[in-house]
Amino acid sequence: MRLTLVAALLLALAGPAPAAAAPVELTLEVRVAESAPGEPVRDAAWLDAQVAEANRLMAPADVHFTARVGPPLPERHARMETRADRDALAALARKPGIRVYVVASLRDVDEPDRMRQGVHWRRRANRAQRCVILSAVAAPSVLAHELGHFFGNPHTQVVDNVMSYEREDPAKMAFDAAQLARIRRGARAAARAARSR
Ligand SMILES: [Zn+2]
Repeated sequence: MRLTLVAALLLALAGPAPAAAAPVELTLEVRVAESAPGEPVRDAAWLDAQVAEANRLMAPADVHFTARVGPPLPERHARMETRADRDALAALARKPGIRVYVVASLRDVDEPDRMRQGVHWRRRANRAQRCVILSAVAAPSVLAHELGHFFGNPHTQVVDNVMSYEREDPAKMAFDAAQLARIRRGARAAARAARSR
């Protein structure tokens, strides 16, 4: 009896176990361009794979995304050739939120001979208006990489880091601890902005 009492007292003094950090739940507002009316350049399964990979890679930061797919993008936004094209897409965002636009093609604006898989873009006239643009050719981890930028992470040259172009073993892809902390902070700010809009 006395031992039980002592044990209970010790437990009370120790207090409750530290609660796990509450996950940050965010909505991605997705719009997909069409190659012809009723024919999106990518289907729901492709989008699900992008979101699943972002969720897997950001799970250590306790950040989780759900996609909400809006109306198709008007055809004038299907092919991203210039900075002005990207600005026009970013200008669609009038309220806070994480916009993801899936387009047919995305040209590199610095090296026009190259095509890109994705970009995080801020409208030059108003840098608060920004979006993630994914090309239809994007590999499954590109959304995670661009969301990494969205939350403030620059590129790194560390092999197999999500924010790097250097790949040896795609199965080892990960964010590092500092990147995860930045993602967590950015995601909490995004969640606050979404609640206050
Ligand atoms: Zn990048």
